[in-house]
Amino acid sequence: MEWTQDAQAELEKVPRFVRNMAKSAVEKLAKEKGVPQVTVELVQETRDKYFGLAEKDKAGKKSTKVAIVRCNTVSEVCPGVGCLRAFNNRKLHFEQYGPDAELIGFFTCGGCSGRRVSRLVEKLKENYDLDVVHLSSCILMDGDFPKCPFKNHIKQSIEIKGVKVVEGTHH
Ligand code: SF4
Repeated sequence: MEWTQDAQAELEKVPRFVRNMAKSAVEKLAKEKGVPQVTVELVQETRDKYFGLAEKDKAGKKSTKVAIVRCNTVSEVCPGVGCLRAFNNRKLHFEQYGPDAELIGFFTCGGCSGRRVSRLVEKLKENYDLDVVHLSSCILMDGDFPKCPFKNHIKQSIEIKGVKVVEGTHH
């Protein structure tokens, strides 16, 4: 599908790792509307519709952006309900957050020794203004699984990106 130069420039503003997805969404919308060419207005309309959360803070008040990292091994047996409920209800390690705090990431470490964490934290920081990462309780505690031997390494890999770390979620 043909794109105007302005439309292409507008697409470049979308974070790189979701740009192809955004492009497909724009072209889908263009087809739905029956327009032969992608214009800058169509890109903006799609971005507001699908990627509005990323833009919200630029215009308005800054809310606290939170992510949770959890153990890849434990995720095989745990869907994460405890972490998510604790955040939703602002309990235990999430008590300090107000109602406008947003959970913008919930991901596993990627396996020993936490190879995925640094990369995803960087993306969330750059593109979504991440403030704080919680290390899930499964990383910290001995239980059915041993506590993580790489916890300090994971913590440092987050802090070096300028993001605060809180140890714990729902225990
Ligand atoms: S690095 Fe730690 S948190 Fe990640 S899978 Fe290994 S033990 Fe679990």
